[in-house]
Amino acid sequence: MQIDILTLFPGMFQGPFETGIFQRAIGRKLVSVNLHNIRDYTHDKHHTVDDYAYGGGAGMVLKPEPVFEAVASIKSGIHLAEKGGELPVILLTPQGRLFSEEIALKLSRYRHLILICGRYEGVDERVAEHLATDEISIGDYVLGGGELAAMVVVDAVVRLLPGVLGSEASPLDDSHSNWLLEYPQYTRPAAYREWPVPEILLSGDHARIAKWRRQQAIIRTLQRRPELLDKAELTAEERRLVDRLLTAPDNKRI
Ligand code: SAH
Repeated sequence: MQIDILTLFPGMFQGPFETGIFQRAIGRKLVSVNLHNIRDYTHDKHHTVDDYAYGGGAGMVLKPEPVFEAVASIKSGIHLAEKGGELPVILLTPQGRLFSEEIALKLSRYRHLILICGRYEGVDERVAEHLATDEISIGDYVLGGGELAAMVVVDAVVRLLPGVLGSEASPLDDSHSNWLLEYPQYTRPAAYREWPVPEILLSGDHARIAKWRRQQAIIRTLQRRPELLDKAELTAEERRLVDRLLTAPDNKRI
């Protein structure tokens, strides 16, 4: 996968993209990330990227021309054979659709993504209207810039690419991949202070462990994010468990 990121602060990406799964993914050539400084696509002497908002108000707005030009330049460099494929151009904005594991999975199936990071009061609306094919928000709060949001999106997408994590199966158990939160995880020591690891995990009985984990995931989701359960695929037996828990006097203690 090729990921092109338009930003005014390419330096911000250095640490995160040189660590952990990125390092591995880039090292194995599963992903290549290109950072483009929006300022490089300006033509005036002062490399102006922002200007006052029409209509007044405090703060500056990112100008459209350098952003359009940067995207055009990336697109012109794409190999002819790849041009037929869809190329999402994603604007990071608190007004976008809320990012989720489901969106990450869909994005992970593209060969190429372009991400646009805003700054200041935001980006000239014509970018959202005529250039971006998607607008994504990472949550209902306002960041100082789109860079951290882009890192969140790229991190969640890259770890889903086949071969990036150690085992192919592991992302499927994680929270949100099946509308369930993950079961609790433990490692050694088996007893720490007065808190032992649940006995079943030490039993070596893989079938019972799998069943216990699945139940724990359901219980956890019910306690913390019950609205997710509406979308989860549960067996009839599991649905009965949910109903039982819902009518239990205090399901927090189960
Ligand atoms: N005035 C704008 C916010 C600008 S914040 C508004 O009220 O909608 C500056 C930049 O930070 C935005 O252009 C966007 O790229 C980024 N940003 C801020 N919050 C974000 C969020 N929750 N998700 C994704 N990007 C965000």
